[in-house]
Amino acid sequence: MSENGEGNERLQSLLRQLPSVDRLMLSPAAYDLVDVYSRDLVVEALRTRLDALREAIFVGHRDVPMNATIVQEAREWLEELVAPTLRPVINATGVIVHTNLGRAPLSEAAKAAIEAVAGDYSTLEYDVDEGGRGSRFAHSAELLLRLTGADDALVVNNNAAAVLLMLAGLCAGREVVISRSQLVEIGGGFRVPDVMAQSGAKLVEVGTTNRTYLRDYAAAIGEQTAAILVAHHSNFKIVGFSSEPSLAELAAFARERELPLLYDQGSGALLNTARYGLDEEPTVQQALADGVDVVSFSGDKLLGGPQAGILCGRKDLIDRLRRHPLTRAVRPDKLCLAALSTTLHHFLVQEAEKEVPVWRMISRSLADLEKVAEEWARRLRDAGILVTVVDGFSTVGGGSLPGSTLPTKLLAIDHPEIVALAETLRRQKPAVIGRIQNNRFVVDPRTVGETQVDALLQLLARHARVQTGA
Ligand SMILES: *Cc1c(COP(=O)(O)O)cnc(C)c1O
Repeated sequence: MSENGEGNERLQSLLRQLPSVDRLMLSPAAYDLVDVYSRDLVVEALRTRLDALREAIFVGHRDVPMNATIVQEAREWLEELVAPTLRPVINATGVIVHTNLGRAPLSEAAKAAIEAVAGDYSTLEYDVDEGGRGSRFAHSAELLLRLTGADDALVVNNNAAAVLLMLAGLCAGREVVISRSQLVEIGGGFRVPDVMAQSGAKLVEVGTTNRTYLRDYAAAIGEQTAAILVAHHSNFKIVGFSSEPSLAELAAFARERELPLLYDQGSGALLNTARYGLDEEPTVQQALADGVDVVSFSGDKLLGGPQAGILCGRKDLIDRLRRHPLTRAVRPDKLCLAALSTTLHHFLVQEAEKEVPVWRMISRSLADLEKVAEEWARRLRDAGILVTVVDGFSTVGGGSLPGSTLPTKLLAIDHPEIVALAETLRRQKPAVIGRIQNNRFVVDPRTVGETQVDALLQLLARHARVQTGA
């Protein structure tokens, strides 16, 4: 027999050793899988494994695994298939409103409120007093009016939708005047000029990148002007030779011209950030007190609640927005409304610092962070980790308060393979997301959830240990 024929013979013999799907399906282990994953998926998993093994034999692999091993590999394939891609992570970055990590974590009460309406029917659009149809838009409205001093409020899906609706509902087919310094991209591709174009409003840019005066607005206003828009810079800061009229000045000016002043505030801050050593962020209620006619903001930035967009302001204007067809397309769901009302409640009874995670993190004292960092460092050293506590900074994030930082205490971990360590930690469940700084893996305790501390320290102890001596 030729050498080639001999090779072929061996190949055929290896392929014959592979069991059939039917045969594997008869094993008790496969039975167990069928219970969990359904017969169809288990068959697919086994077929996929067998195909891969056949491929491997063709390219030169010479061993056929035992049946139990093939079923075990099918189990792993199935586990991977059904594993949620959206899952909890440990945020050790020190960025409080981390857009990529889901922005604001919810308070315990907000989580409970979601749970309470999730599995049962609810009063979403039902008025129990009247025994008939109610409005989903009523749920957070009363609380928003109390907290912001607005005459009316409307909740939608997110702030990008709120801005779109505000412009479509009040300015479509007409002109909106905005300062050039505010034609910004917020992140995730949200560009103020693009959103304005989608709304059907025509953008009229005034002033320059660094300086805009009331007289610039005055020169741009005409028959076609529907409103003046102010967009909060949010994620960048203009420093040095710059100026814009204040909200109060613009509001007085807009009133004189009988034009509404619209304000995309962004962050949803209801508490004064300056009290915590951060730059001053205009609060929603201050903007309304300054005379803004409609203000829009996110629910999941400094408000510390669920993803939502909130519009507060003059009754006649909010009413028009509520009746606009686009509102139906951007309405919030019941889980959002449940969590939002509960979050607002924390502000109403003045317990936000204690109960709303974003504000608890912002208001955490350096002394507390130092105590925690030292305690964690001691536990990690006991586990053989090379760690020191160093000074550092946390940031608010979420496009809020650029350049504004909070002093913190960091755990800085030494490891010879720092990039590989960071990757290993990212792949854990829960994933640990930290920072690499000065070639060390850095953990900021400020943003680590209380219930995640043990998991974090265990994962670090397991993966960050450095093999010494021997
Ligand atoms: C974040 C932000 C937005 C977008 O809000 P989303 O809730 O992410 O849709 C719009 N405008 C400003 C000023 C922002 O800061």
